[in-house]
Amino acid sequence: MEKYLSQLNDAQLEPTIQVDGPMIIIAGAGSGKTRVLTYRIAYLMHKGVDSFSILALTFTNKAAREMKERIAQIVGESEAKNLWMGTFHSVFARILRVEGHHLGFPSNFTIYDTQDSQKLLGSIIKEMNLDKDLYKTKQVYSRISSYKNSLITVKAYFNNPELMEADAMARRPQMGNIYKAYVDRCFKAGAMDFDDLLLRTNELLTRFPTVLAKYQDKFRYILVDEYQDTNHSQYLIVRALADRFQNICVVGDDAQSIYAFRGANINNILNFQRDYDNVKLYRLEQNYRSTKNIVGAANSVIDHNQTKLDKVVWTANEEGPKVKVHRSLTDGDEGRYVASTIWETKMNQQLNNSDFAILYRTNAQSRAMEDALRKRNIPYRIYGGLSFYQRKEIKDVLSYLRLILNPSDEEALKRIINYPGRGIGQTTIDRLVVAANGLGKTIWEILKEIDTVQVNINNGTKNKLRDFVTLIESYQVMNQTATAFELAEHVVKSSGLMREFNKDGTPEGVTRLENVEELLNGVKDFVEGQQELADAKGDLAEFLEDVALATDLDNEKGDDDVVALMTIHLAKGLEFNNVFVVGLEEDLFPSAMSMNTRSELEEERRLFYVALTRAEKQAYLTYALSRYRWGKLVDSDPSRFIEEIDDQFIENITPPEERRINPMLSADIFGDVEPNKIRFKKPVQPKFKKKDKAPEKFVASTPKNLKKVDALGKNDVPNTNLFDGNLAVGNIVSHMRFGKGEVLKIEGKGTDTKAEIKFEVAGVKKLLLRFAKLDVI
Ligand code: ATP
Ligand code: MG
Repeated sequence: MEKYLSQLNDAQLEPTIQVDGPMIIIAGAGSGKTRVLTYRIAYLMHKGVDSFSILALTFTNKAAREMKERIAQIVGESEAKNLWMGTFHSVFARILRVEGHHLGFPSNFTIYDTQDSQKLLGSIIKEMNLDKDLYKTKQVYSRISSYKNSLITVKAYFNNPELMEADAMARRPQMGNIYKAYVDRCFKAGAMDFDDLLLRTNELLTRFPTVLAKYQDKFRYILVDEYQDTNHSQYLIVRALADRFQNICVVGDDAQSIYAFRGANINNILNFQRDYDNVKLYRLEQNYRSTKNIVGAANSVIDHNQTKLDKVVWTANEEGPKVKVHRSLTDGDEGRYVASTIWETKMNQQLNNSDFAILYRTNAQSRAMEDALRKRNIPYRIYGGLSFYQRKEIKDVLSYLRLILNPSDEEALKRIINYPGRGIGQTTIDRLVVAANGLGKTIWEILKEIDTVQVNINNGTKNKLRDFVTLIESYQVMNQTATAFELAEHVVKSSGLMREFNKDGTPEGVTRLENVEELLNGVKDFVEGQQELADAKGDLAEFLEDVALATDLDNEKGDDDVVALMTIHLAKGLEFNNVFVVGLEEDLFPSAMSMNTRSELEEERRLFYVALTRAEKQAYLTYALSRYRWGKLVDSDPSRFIEEIDDQFIENITPPEERRINPMLSADIFGDVEPNKIRFKKPVQPKFKKKDKAPEKFVASTPKNLKKVDALGKNDVPNTNLFDGNLAVGNIVSHMRFGKGEVLKIEGKGTDTKAEIKFEVAGVKKLLLRFAKLDVI
């Protein structure tokens, strides 16, 4: 143990070896918070604390796994196995399996993922005959999610006139009834959604003092990483469990609180000292992750936030290269720049692919990056998008498995009752749902009583339903003895799924088959892994639990040498040698939706701080002057965050000006730009010092014989005569699609010059002249 403790500095050592009492470590990025947590657990065990009585809550399952591995190296594998470690969701799902019966849930309850929840909400909205444009499933889902995370149960909702009024004002007066129907249906289906895992745990701990006492007694030492991003529900669970022994250690960084939009409450970290007696507060100041330039840049940005705790972050690491800022013409160019830089750096510095990460604000930005990486044959992996387990063919297989385990699972049943096709139509399914709702039964119960129950279904169809029940029941019998792998393989082959996937010879079909094969391999791996554990069986129940709570970050295979692509939200806690933060443009990052209030903007800035501090050696900040968004090319300005970085830490590495002034000089640039698709957003004053050397007075085109394009824009060519003549306010112009109009205003310079034009029919438009096809009449 001594050897390991010597790997900590003095400030880190103190909290590591303080065994008892409440403590909080507030410290900046890369200062070793997670390391302290890890070593502290090892130290507790070294001091004789029973490993079964330690609970560590992490942000991802992957983080928990890595921590466990590290601890195993220190204290030995067999002891480390007994630790309770994982995300809030996975730990409390495990507890609910044992204790859920108090709340009326079976131990084999299903965990609905977002897709299942939204599908269920969709059918409820339909059954209630509500306007689906007013009641959008995604919005309804996130509303319900926010109730749950604030512990507003259905009952509490209906006791709260303000909430009801707020929903009514938002033209969703039926919100409460949807909420109620949703909760009832989940309950009947023996299912919990992600938020229920926390909400129901809270309910369990409040309503059943004996259960609370049991777990208080069990978890005598509680540790929480990334505490700044706990929501109210998580906060209450921790407080309840820690209340008796008060051996609680939380670590976090207020500057990295980035989940407020999902209910995380930064006050949990700020108020910690009020919640417990005699709290020890520790601070760590030395960053071990990044170079001086990266630390300096990150500090100078976060300084712009008003709401923050005073914190010092410094590093003894080398100065390193400056943070590089790069501007591209389009998002396609940005992708190519990133890919070629990765390629070159890898060659020059002998690095692996996994030394690089590309971080973005929104998932949609991955496409341009992917295209460019693919062209260069650089292996990459996108984390977080649609998780492997949410792909259609995988969900089909999993739905069979879920139904075997929990036949009440309505979403699983509806998904596969007629897949592969068995001649059971949608009308039949709708009638089954109505019958089930009417009788307060599950669809499965109705199916089992199909001979006697009052339902308008003809005999032929009834036979088919009976066959389906027999099929599922045969799997249930098998499940009593088989491993998850044996069962899954059998299901895929005998249910007709394999035939269905095989039928389709298209490349997509082949991919689907490969995915199913991958799933089976995964089940096999899982079963083998479980069989090594003392208290696990490797059965279906264990497998499904693992799957339901896997985040995409967890599916990573250790041996993969790939460039990581992910949103910044997902990158929290991680580190990479080289980090590209891409799409640094106003309205994208900071996001257009988060600029209305100071607090929203400050959260965006914290997000940027998180992004920058993931880098160890080199950070790149890139932006494009125009990019495709919502299917349109929009013009963008550099993010204010770039400007906020102290100049001494950054270096502008944008290539020669000509390339941007006349795009035609660079033949490949238009590879992914369709000039006739240009639209414009509201004018934004450039906040970044642009250094374009284009002439002050803009010169515009007057080509009379401009080549016409066909409807698809196939023959479209960039306007090469763009800089040929003067365009002035008052000119009457003609535009290929918008028709005739008058120039009201010209603004910007060089390639950024825009004209505001009032078209007779199309109204006022702002056009970027380097792309717009205008004829002066
Ligand atoms: P974040 O805020 O991003 O979660 P953190 O505070 O949790 O960061 P860690 O991830 O624990 O920081 O540590 C950052 C890096 O510094 C890790 O690679 C870690 O191994 C290393 N590190 C931490 N403390 C020391 C130390 N005393 N000596 C050497 N390396 C250290
Ligand atoms: Mg950490």
